[in-house]
Amino acid sequence: MPETATVTPELERLLLSTIPTGLLIYGEWRDASGGGTFAVEDPATGKKLLEIADATSADAMAALDAADAVRASWARTAPRVRAEILRRGFELVTERAEDFALLMTLEMGKPLAEARGEVTYGAEFLRWFSEETVRDYGRYLTSPEGKNKILVQRKPVGPCLLITPWNFPLAMATRKVAPAIAAGCTMVLKPAKFTPLTSLLFAQVMQEAGLPAGVLNVVASSSASAISGPLMKDSRLRKVSFTGSTPVGRRLLADASHNVLRTSMELGGNAPFIVFEDADVDKAVQGAMAAKMRNMGEACTAANRFLVHESVAEDFTSKFAAAMGSLTLGRGTDPGTAVGPIIDGGARKDIHALVTEAVEQGASVATGGIPQDGAGYFYPPTVLANVPHDATILASEIFGPVAPVTTFRTEEEAVRLANASEYGLASYLFSRDHARMLRVAEQIEFGMVGFNSGMISNAAAPFGGVKQSGLGREGGAEGLAEYTTAQYIAIPDPYAA
Ligand code: NAD
Repeated sequence: MPETATVTPELERLLLSTIPTGLLIYGEWRDASGGGTFAVEDPATGKKLLEIADATSADAMAALDAADAVRASWARTAPRVRAEILRRGFELVTERAEDFALLMTLEMGKPLAEARGEVTYGAEFLRWFSEETVRDYGRYLTSPEGKNKILVQRKPVGPCLLITPWNFPLAMATRKVAPAIAAGCTMVLKPAKFTPLTSLLFAQVMQEAGLPAGVLNVVASSSASAISGPLMKDSRLRKVSFTGSTPVGRRLLADASHNVLRTSMELGGNAPFIVFEDADVDKAVQGAMAAKMRNMGEACTAANRFLVHESVAEDFTSKFAAAMGSLTLGRGTDPGTAVGPIIDGGARKDIHALVTEAVEQGASVATGGIPQDGAGYFYPPTVLANVPHDATILASEIFGPVAPVTTFRTEEEAVRLANASEYGLASYLFSRDHARMLRVAEQIEFGMVGFNSGMISNAAAPFGGVKQSGLGREGGAEGLAEYTTAQYIAIPDPYAA
């Protein structure tokens, strides 16, 4: 579909008619064993988009059988071969950018312009890792006492289980699948039940790109544990890479201990957004809009706690509330929509409960705060002012378009408040002082720091958190290392005495 095309119901139907609805196992699209299906809905209307195969534990095992069957042959392919498949995948996703964007808008709700941005970001993992595939260096050195040579090579970890969330249906898949392909791993991908269609289309595109049967198997299911449970007990599986909430991550870490699996855990966040007294307030408001409103606030990197120096708090809050209040809510396919629906009714209820409790605890509503009636799960962009430091909302991952603003007096207090969280994923600092940026970055316990910037995600950068935000990194050279393991070979030095 060309970018200029108006989205009509006919165009939506046409796109949906091309999406595979089966399970991808050993290169074939199949029905679920037992023939079960589940419905995928549009969160803007609550209406069914498609009915797709609902994988069972038996299907999950068949997918692992496939991943195991081609494990050794795939690991031996030339890096250039894997690189070219990834590059072709990048080209095909880019050629079909409008299809991917519309599909994500339909199943997840984000506005079309944002979905297009995600296609660019998600496709970039395919290009970045295609370039990294041929540069996965080992090393060769003489041992310190001179008796041995030390040869270190990187080997693929082996069959991986990749579990993705619903908020970035394409990028969360490519961020795992691309480095796994680059490293020479085979895999079973389990997408979130709300947004499996994008992964199914992506898998089809990777088949077209020349990915051999069995390397990427996709099992969408209405029961996540029916897939992860048996797979993680099977000793052929060697790694689980999970992106999702911290409570589910904890459970999977416990399950991973059974077979001592390699794990990558990209979990929840509670990002502080610190505005110092010397910040350019207008730039800070722009940054706040990006850091808060990307994906309607349904992002692990979403700014969640606005810590603003008391001398600029009023100015910042009134400008921020005006910008938030001016955004148009609507179905993501409607031109002019800036804010789509929340993923489902339960999530919207949780968001509103946090707002109500914050107000009971002393916060005032600067804009928004009243959920919208009618079809779809809409929640208005909301700014809460004067939020007390001990309010529940500041300790919770909001995962919605709500911005609580609280104040601080000194740099030390800002750092203390920012670090007072079990999470440590993204953080944002706004100041004109570069020395302060480095000083605060040293003290702040977060895996990522945005300086005068509300957007930090980049395929070439190591994305990930500390504390209960997770383990490991995705993107950058670190993202490839997650799928390889070092093997050391000791060789006697022929010239050693
Ligand atoms: P979720 O934890 O509910 O689900 C994530 C995935 O795990 C889905 O595929 C789901 O089906 C599966 N899952 C759920 N229960 C499971 C179980 N018992 N066993 C195995 N798999 C299970 O999270 P979500 O609601 O899809 O996504 C939102 C969360 O993801 C937020 O906490 C957000 O911060 C986090 N997230 C983190 C990152 C990151 O990079 N750190 C990126 C995006 C989202």
